[in-house]
Amino acid sequence: MPTSSSLVRDILVERLEALLHDCELVMDTSAHGQAFHDLDDFLYTEGRKFTQEILQQKFQERIEKTENADEAKQCPHCKKKQVQHKKSKTIASAHGHITLRRRYRRCSQCKEHFFPADATLGLTAGYSSGLKRLAARCCGLWSYRLSEENLQEFLGIHLSYTTLGKIAGHTAEEISARLQNNPDVRHDFQKAKGDIEFYADGTFVHIRNDDGKAEWREFKVGAYVVKWSHYLTKACPASNRLKLWTQIPTSALKASNDKLAVRIMPLQFDPQLAK
Ligand SMILES: [Zn+2]
Repeated sequence: MPTSSSLVRDILVERLEALLHDCELVMDTSAHGQAFHDLDDFLYTEGRKFTQEILQQKFQERIEKTENADEAKQCPHCKKKQVQHKKSKTIASAHGHITLRRRYRRCSQCKEHFFPADATLGLTAGYSSGLKRLAARCCGLWSYRLSEENLQEFLGIHLSYTTLGKIAGHTAEEISARLQNNPDVRHDFQKAKGDIEFYADGTFVHIRNDDGKAEWREFKVGAYVVKWSHYLTKACPASNRLKLWTQIPTSALKASNDKLAVRIMPLQFDPQLAK
């Protein structure tokens, strides 16, 4: 793997020139009326590979630079020089997976080990903030399995649905912590005028398939809550009321002799569940 800045630059410039040359070839060999579509498809895959390579090469270069600093070579506690090895790490980014090599340092005196570049450059999570944002958005809209398929289709990024579930879980913890530290967010929400509140969550159900095989499948459920008086007048067709709605009294609304109507509904089933 190249480490000097000029060598990295030379490699990337050479790859860019090859890519531009291939763009010409693609359009030269396109059928009548197809050049635009062919170039678009070509860059969808090859352009992405190139940006992925830039990320990998430029970041590896930055790792080397960081590790050459004096403070990265010594134990942060006793300041002694440490034993070091190189270890690779694969990280998921918004441009796909990249593999980086960074130094592992172990202090024999303090009996501790460190990856100096991980903390300094933001590699501890194993995925980038950009990827986390994309994954969290997908998981908020679709099941983990559909999120896996769509991330692959839209961005060429492969993450298993279990990994996506873990990233979504970490994101939910971060949001929850942010709410704890910012009571104003909750306060504003509770004070907001409106007749409907909506909640959603994901869970797993245990099912048995036609062939007798049992497994856990994912699905999302949502509940929306309206004032009972609102429900009676406009919220829901009469035919659905008895079947789908329950009413629960709440202390908050007792004073006005009102109740809450809650509807729980499946938002999105795993396609396998619908079979
Ligand atoms: Zn030490």
